[in-house]
Amino acid sequence: MKYQRSSALFREAQRYIPGGVNSPVRAFKAVGGTPVFVKEAKGAYIYDVDGNRLIDYISSWGPLILGHAFEPVLEAVIEKAKKGTSFGMPTEIETDLARLAVSMAPNIDKIRFVNSGTEACMSAIRLARGFTGKEKIIKFAGCYHGHADAFLIQAGSGAVTFGSPNSPGVTQGTANDTLLARYNDLNSVDELIAANQGEIAAVIIEPVAGNMGCIIPEEAFIQGLRERCTKAGILLIFDEVMTGFRLGRGGAQEVLGIPADIVTYGKVIGGGLPVGAFAARSEIMDHLAPEGPVYQAGTLSGNPLAMSAGLAMLTALNENPGVFDSLDKKTRYLHKGIEEILMDQEIPHQINRFGSMISVHFTEEPVVDFEGAVRGNNDTFKAYFHGMLSKGVYLPPSAFESYFLNDALSYEDIDFTLDALKQIAPKLK
Ligand code: PLP
Repeated sequence: MKYQRSSALFREAQRYIPGGVNSPVRAFKAVGGTPVFVKEAKGAYIYDVDGNRLIDYISSWGPLILGHAFEPVLEAVIEKAKKGTSFGMPTEIETDLARLAVSMAPNIDKIRFVNSGTEACMSAIRLARGFTGKEKIIKFAGCYHGHADAFLIQAGSGAVTFGSPNSPGVTQGTANDTLLARYNDLNSVDELIAANQGEIAAVIIEPVAGNMGCIIPEEAFIQGLRERCTKAGILLIFDEVMTGFRLGRGGAQEVLGIPADIVTYGKVIGGGLPVGAFAARSEIMDHLAPEGPVYQAGTLSGNPLAMSAGLAMLTALNENPGVFDSLDKKTRYLHKGIEEILMDQEIPHQINRFGSMISVHFTEEPVVDFEGAVRGNNDTFKAYFHGMLSKGVYLPPSAFESYFLNDALSYEDIDFTLDALKQIAPKLK
């Protein structure tokens, strides 16, 4: 494959945009080479500026669960745009999306829309602090909750890919209020709760972690976390920015059978436009301004184009709940296929999968936390990534990310992917 035009565009972008990108992982620094510049996309495919067709396993990092340029979303946005793009005044469609989201996800009565997952998590923490009157939070190493200061402590995703899980610019005071536990390790949580009695407002967690590769919560861990939070009067925040409306109609709360106190959303809920949201029982949500004292606002929050994309997306999922099963089956098929090829070639690996989230870690040991994810062989990962790309398969350009399958992907596309892997696997040894 040729990447001449992408290379030229990247060089030009670097002159005006730091690192040439508006979000670090896009720069390919972890894997080397030239980022692919997209021309257009449809269904399961991306077409780049050099005329290459790529099968896409990222789906814009999650939102496009039904594939690129999904017609109902496109139509809704185009129609809406003709009537004005932003008003800074209430519109009916905000309530329509809120009603639908609340009807699909369990344990939430009210929802507030923002513009990104970062904003959703940042606001959820403020709400938890305002509600409980406590200041500290617990987060888990390798979990990523966006780029707000409080979360850039041992953060996953791009933060760890680029070697700055603790970012310069975050004050010591902020860092002191974020306590760090280990994923799938209740002892680490118990120690923090015991040492900070009566001071912890919330525990925030990715209920299925997708920002250190895909990491699955052990049942006893997530159940134990719920019990401990309830007992200690700590709010449990599920960051469902990735998992919400992806793992099932009701997201991870429903699939795991664990209720959270506050839930954050992003990605799928915006159908590919910039939307985040946070939601909880009325008792908690009514602490938000203008009803309550906890301040939170946004010029473009509830933007009509974004709401229409989200409404079209959630409506499509709500009316066709079989889509989650379909995605699950496709991802299982991919999982089994990759497993067979890597086993056949005797390449040490772990495949973690939950629903339509999956990742391949090149290590002998099971990967259940951040330390496990870091142990993966990055040289093998790079060869795997570039090998697959050279065959027209676009995987996340970092070992610390999950794939997000979309339902436009056909079994033929997956077979093509597995065939590509068969061809490149001998070079991964
Ligand atoms: N929370 C999780 C679990 C995420 O995966 C992400 C982004 O990938 C965020 C929060 C931040 O969302 P955004 O990038 O929309 O700010």
